[in-house]
Amino acid sequence: MLVYNSRIHRKQELETIEPGKIRMYVCGPTVYDQIHIGNARTFLSFDVIRRYLMYKGYDVTFAQNLTDVDDKIINRANEEGRSAAEVAEEYSAAFIEQMHRFGILDPDIRPRATREIEAMQEMIGRLVERDHAYVAGNGDVYFSVRSDRSYGVLSGRELDQLRAGERVEVNDDKRDPFDFALWKAAKPGEPSWPSPWGEGRPGWHTECCAMIHRYLGTPIDIHGGGQDLIFPHHENETAQAMCAWDHPLANHWMHAGMLRVNGDKMSKSLGNFFTLREILDAYPADAIRLLMLQTHYRSSLDFQTDQLDGAVGTLERLRTCVKNLRWTAENSPGDGNLTEADRGLSQAAVTAQEEFIRQMDDDFNTAGGLAAIFELVTAANKYLLAAGGAIATAPTLRAADTICELAEVLGVTLESSQDELPSELVDLARAHAGYAGTDPEEAAETLLAARQEARAAKDWGTADAIRDGITALGLALEDTAAGARLRKA
Ligand code: AMP
Ligand code: ZN
Repeated sequence: MLVYNSRIHRKQELETIEPGKIRMYVCGPTVYDQIHIGNARTFLSFDVIRRYLMYKGYDVTFAQNLTDVDDKIINRANEEGRSAAEVAEEYSAAFIEQMHRFGILDPDIRPRATREIEAMQEMIGRLVERDHAYVAGNGDVYFSVRSDRSYGVLSGRELDQLRAGERVEVNDDKRDPFDFALWKAAKPGEPSWPSPWGEGRPGWHTECCAMIHRYLGTPIDIHGGGQDLIFPHHENETAQAMCAWDHPLANHWMHAGMLRVNGDKMSKSLGNFFTLREILDAYPADAIRLLMLQTHYRSSLDFQTDQLDGAVGTLERLRTCVKNLRWTAENSPGDGNLTEADRGLSQAAVTAQEEFIRQMDDDFNTAGGLAAIFELVTAANKYLLAAGGAIATAPTLRAADTICELAEVLGVTLESSQDELPSELVDLARAHAGYAGTDPEEAAETLLAARQEARAAKDWGTADAIRDGITALGLALEDTAAGARLRKA
């Protein structure tokens, strides 16, 4: 399977360090506010990458940090007159909550910077000892980029080129403008920890590198983040690993493209800034996932808010197809003999799965994977329409299972317990059809049969009362060739 490696600017065959195992790290958020949909796009990309690797049978260990000490957190805490720890705690919880709502799997390991001070100090100590870092006049400890002959290997830029091209903060304490702080000397009112170099707090680039080493062991198989992290964050992470442990931090570097909104960079001043929470309040997670996954993870994604309604329709189309297949298999099973159309549907399921894998094996082409699912949905809808009456059960169930299984690899759930019929149907069936059981499915069948009987007996009062009761529960009554049935309205 081919994976694009940002370090070599091309796709390469995925080779794991240990056979069948993948150790993977994706930089987490700085927890000072609700995350925006750009952040969410990056986390979604890696959630799907992880899910697909698991689907392929890899044993994946996934770690993601929470940056819970940082200037932005301290600034917000000062503005609001509370502690940095309180701000970090609030937005760590908010982040995890929104990730759950968005259907992102929890990492296996979720280290927090403030709890990993020891691991970071150990790494910084090693870098100082090996002359790759120095204590500056202001008490900060800096990494010396000049001491690392491979510096620039990830972003593909030489130091001189970088010096000419980038604007960097001028700081007399640094030996080179690109030197970066591994440890920042404490300032009044800021969170700090004791260290061999004085009271202070860790630098951002230090955190990920030390945590990866501690929890996953270096090098790891896959390191990911958004493209904006390639320089300087990931360049600095890998420089530290090279200089501390003499090996790169990761074998495959993967970066997700940036999200733009309606053609523009997302910004508060342009009024096109959306938090993930806002979008999730308005649209189902699965629809947002479908919309985002229609663009390859490496491409920049132009998020068109007016396409969200369309995505809800797409999700509905997938769910309806699965429901129709299952319902038909259950309610009008054929005689077991397979027709050409039945065999065609089975074949369409096999082809869809093969095509899905072919697309996803090519650097996680989710757009191609989705197209394979839609092909099968189209074939299934045609089959159901043409078949009319009795239907072979095995091919219909197989098609439904395949659609659900492939969608689930993308983290899109088509069948869930939420689709179950409401328990109020039991009361309704008790009132109108003398039903004595407790199963909503059975109650629905009893009600439908009672309504049928009432209609046959021209007892319109009872028939209408049943229909009204069903509608009041937010369900729709559908008359189909194989009889009446209920679905969510
Ligand atoms: P941060 O909290 O700023 O470090 O961002 C968390 C993650 O979101 C990082 O992997 C960033 O690369 C990513 N990210 C930030 N802005 C965007 C954007 N507009 N589109 C996609 N990913 C982004
Ligand atoms: Zn990082």
